[in-house]
Amino acid sequence: MNVPLLDLKTQYSRIQPELMKVIEEVCAQQSFILGAYVEQLEGTLAKFIGVEHAIGVASGSDALLLSLMELDLQPGDEVITVPFTFFASTGVISRLHARPVFVDICADTFNLNPTQLADKITPRTKAILPVHLFGQCADMEAINEVANTHGIPVIEDACQAIGAIQHGTKAGAFGRTGCFSFFPSKNLGAFGDGGLITTHDAQVAERLRLLRVHGSRSEYHHHLIGMNSRLDALQAAILHVKYQHLADWTAKRQNNADTYRQLFHEHGLDNHVTLPVVTPGNIHVYNQLTIKTPKRDALSAYLTEKSIGNRIYYPVPLHLQECYETLGYHKGDFPVAEQAAQEVLSLPIYPELTTDQLTYVAETIKQFFDQQ
Ligand SMILES: *Cc1c(COP(=O)(O)O)cnc(C)c1O
Repeated sequence: MNVPLLDLKTQYSRIQPELMKVIEEVCAQQSFILGAYVEQLEGTLAKFIGVEHAIGVASGSDALLLSLMELDLQPGDEVITVPFTFFASTGVISRLHARPVFVDICADTFNLNPTQLADKITPRTKAILPVHLFGQCADMEAINEVANTHGIPVIEDACQAIGAIQHGTKAGAFGRTGCFSFFPSKNLGAFGDGGLITTHDAQVAERLRLLRVHGSRSEYHHHLIGMNSRLDALQAAILHVKYQHLADWTAKRQNNADTYRQLFHEHGLDNHVTLPVVTPGNIHVYNQLTIKTPKRDALSAYLTEKSIGNRIYYPVPLHLQECYETLGYHKGDFPVAEQAAQEVLSLPIYPELTTDQLTYVAETIKQFFDQQ
């Protein structure tokens, strides 16, 4: 049996007619940048996430970059975030010549540890940027409490967490802005790059709408220094069709996670691998199903040999990246993130997985540990 880490072709084959219909509509109109399809998607997703405003942009990275530009981040300003995430979360900070200030993660959730947050705040702190890693919200109540005490805006990296809920509030509705990615492997994936910014604040929304079109309020009159970062009509039309399936796909990801839990338990794997911990009040949307084991490298090689897709998100914490040597961090500075980088392994969790495939993955992992 073959179990890829992700199988977008099966998803596509099931909804191809619906997608082709809207793609042909957009092509017939030959109007490709922003426009009615983008506005429709923005309205639909704003309502889904529970915010007043949503702004379609060119990628999740740009959603983060524009959110920081909207704060008028200056060289030397500081943004507090985590070292255990995809590089985009911090690359955008550096891109604006500001400084990422890292805080360690919680071992169980892989998300920002709010108990260490207040210590990192300085007069230069301009934003706190928590990441809802793998599909579960960071502890937003605790993070917002620290942020509010110090009057610091929160920018959520919700790129992996569309639909995730914490105590009744959806990812992207906690901060000044929420940033989403439609990269094809995300839970709601485009046929290319795309992104979205959410906000409750009409003025923030207005500035973001300007920033994504070179700060232009009317053609050739530039109010702000922005950039070109627009979502295009084809992607928006495709995403709107796919959105109709998101609730079903998310439920299937959650069912697959439950099935893994049950199978791992039946196979006596509880002492060998740690499954994702969902903390009280959270609904996890499992963009990744990430387990932990000290035998990670050997398990990964074994699964690959047995044709089971698996991947390490993320093998090198950001404070130890070559490009960040100048930040002056060292090995040992963020022990929880460093240990996670040694032990994490993501397994197939996509909605179209069959029971046979899930069973095969669990049995193969059992075989591996039987041989140890
Ligand atoms: C995917 C992702 C991004 C960036 O999104 P792109 O659309 O690829 O630019 C940012 N942060 C996290 C945590 C992500 O997973």
